Amino acid sequence: MVTFFPMPYQGETLYSMIARYHIWSGNLNSKATLRDLFNTTSVTAGRELPANINLLINNLPDKCTLTVDEIIKKHTLYKYYTAFLPSERATYIYDLMSEGNGSLIFTALGLCNNNMKIDSSLKYCNQCVESDRNNFGEAFFHIEHQVPGALMCQKHSAELYICNKSTQIKNRQEYLNLEFSISEKDTVVATLNKQIIEHQKKFGKDIDSIINGNFRFKEMNFFREHYLKELIHKGMAESRMKIYQQDLLRDFKNYYGNDYLTLLGCNFDVDNKYNWVTAITRKHRKSFHPIQHLLIIEYLNIDIKELFNSEYMEVRKKIYKSKTDGEKISYRERWSKLGKDYPNENTSFIRKLDKATYIWLNKYDKKWLAENSPVKKTYGHSKKIDWKKRDEEILQEVKEVVEAIYNSKEKPERATVGVIGRRIGKAYLLQKYLDKMPKTKEYLQEKVESVKEYQNRRISWVRENVTINGESEWIVMREAGVR
Ligand SMILES: [Zn+2]
Repeated sequence: MVTFFPMPYQGETLYSMIARYHIWSGNLNSKATLRDLFNTTSVTAGRELPANINLLINNLPDKCTLTVDEIIKKHTLYKYYTAFLPSERATYIYDLMSEGNGSLIFTALGLCNNNMKIDSSLKYCNQCVESDRNNFGEAFFHIEHQVPGALMCQKHSAELYICNKSTQIKNRQEYLNLEFSISEKDTVVATLNKQIIEHQKKFGKDIDSIINGNFRFKEMNFFREHYLKELIHKGMAESRMKIYQQDLLRDFKNYYGNDYLTLLGCNFDVDNKYNWVTAITRKHRKSFHPIQHLLIIEYLNIDIKELFNSEYMEVRKKIYKSKTDGEKISYRERWSKLGKDYPNENTSFIRKLDKATYIWLNKYDKKWLAENSPVKKTYGHSKKIDWKKRDEEILQEVKEVVEAIYNSKEKPERATVGVIGRRIGKAYLLQKYLDKMPKTKEYLQEKVESVKEYQNRRISWVRENVTINGESEWIVMREAGVR
């Protein structure tokens, strides 16, 4: 039992609280601190998901009101790491942190086969350090800065620094106090630019929802189901079974860029079919790193609160369970009989003969239905997409962008299909499916600029915008980048 323990600051990590205790206690080495707090010296200084929390709570003074639950949920990365795990796994990790064996925690996350590099260096924001010193008299480690994937301080939109000492320290039992660990040699996690800041703002908002929200855990594949729904909506997939992986990979890369993905340790090779983006959209039993989920969520423009509040999977399962096996057998028999009676017909023909059976099986016994239906003859993959409607929609978007390009007062950009596609965020559609959208195609053919046309436009732009007093044609040409 200890006679005092620092009360946590809001958003402070447990690690940081113990580091502050260590200084206040006047203990000469970390072993003495461990003995004070845990009654044992066989504890390591967990930075992200520390263990033995129950032992610690039992050693705190009676007047200290901290609970195990509060520590785990508010002062460790538990909520971040378990947000996308099923509840049994999350509970297991909770138990390991509370009183189990800390060395099993990492394995329990299921990330061992994931190629993500785990970086557990400690991070801080200079402006937070300053304001914490002003407000509380000391600096401390903030939980939101330690979240893997965080490259900037959300509060200040400022660069995060890696506490150099935390990457060099050999003793895994030592707790670093931020106040005494800041060094001139500390380097930034990433140099921020406009693009990184934009992505990080979204990332920070999602992290905030996860850390401060109170969501129920989801089943395995819950997230995949939702991602698929959005992929279909985006035109990147036609059905559960058919995802246009190449389009998806290219568009995903185009959206984030190699640099950002590399900074997050999530870059991949489009030609490697074992990449994580493909894996996360396929039916899977493995875990993915929260960063990977968050990247998909931002890319698909999913509202994270709506996602976590959705009970879609649970509902589906409940209905499934309430159906009796007898019902299932009889529907299956009816479907199989139709298949035998009309061996040369396709699914849509058979479906019309007994709509009720089809609807029931499609709703409650989908997998069996897919496996026991005539093999689909494919007529291209455009069946479910209403291309006529899409043509109209895309045409509108394209028109707006094209007009913006031609009316812009900025230095001209050549109006190409690629540029227009990227501007509307649907480069893959224009590259691959233009033939399915005749109106858009015709409009583009008319508006897309040849090199010559573009050069002429640049020259007139330079004429209008660059002050030239009696300078020769040659200078105008050079300004315009035309030889
Ligand atoms: Zn800050």
